[in-house]
Amino acid sequence: MINIRIGNGYDIHQLSTNRRLILGGIEIPHELGLLGHSDADVLTHAIMDAMLGALSLGDIGLYFPPSDPQWAGADSLVLLSKVNQLISDRGWQIGNIDSVVVAERPKLKPHISAMRDRLGQVLQISSDRVGIKATTNEQLDAVGREEGIAAHAVVLLIAS
Ligand code: MG
Repeated sequence: MINIRIGNGYDIHQLSTNRRLILGGIEIPHELGLLGHSDADVLTHAIMDAMLGALSLGDIGLYFPPSDPQWAGADSLVLLSKVNQLISDRGWQIGNIDSVVVAERPKLKPHISAMRDRLGQVLQISSDRVGIKATTNEQLDAVGREEGIAAHAVVLLIAS
């Protein structure tokens, strides 16, 4: 019986004026924010998709459809907590998370430690199990033109 599962997640949101920039549950000062039905926390969305994917449970659109007004402006950390409950109900816990945020600007390095702490808190795991890396897209494509921010995540689940 294999007692580990792995999942990957990807998300991208457009940058827009008059929106807050929230990544990993942390508000980051920037003149642009991410556009979306919820708070558009692209990193948290990629992590949730990786958690669901590890158990072949589909994606967050299935659980929190953008067409459902109850998720308008939703705090993605609340959704993350619900996904965590879902995997926990099925007898799984997070081994570790590794993720990458791809953003041309702003510099994310000063905020990564707070993001790891916040996500660890919500997921009830130590922040040393929450890996977050940041990179630019070297000015290439839409992300490189600062039209959006993307995130990739891999999550390992362990049977509890
Ligand atoms: Mg999303």
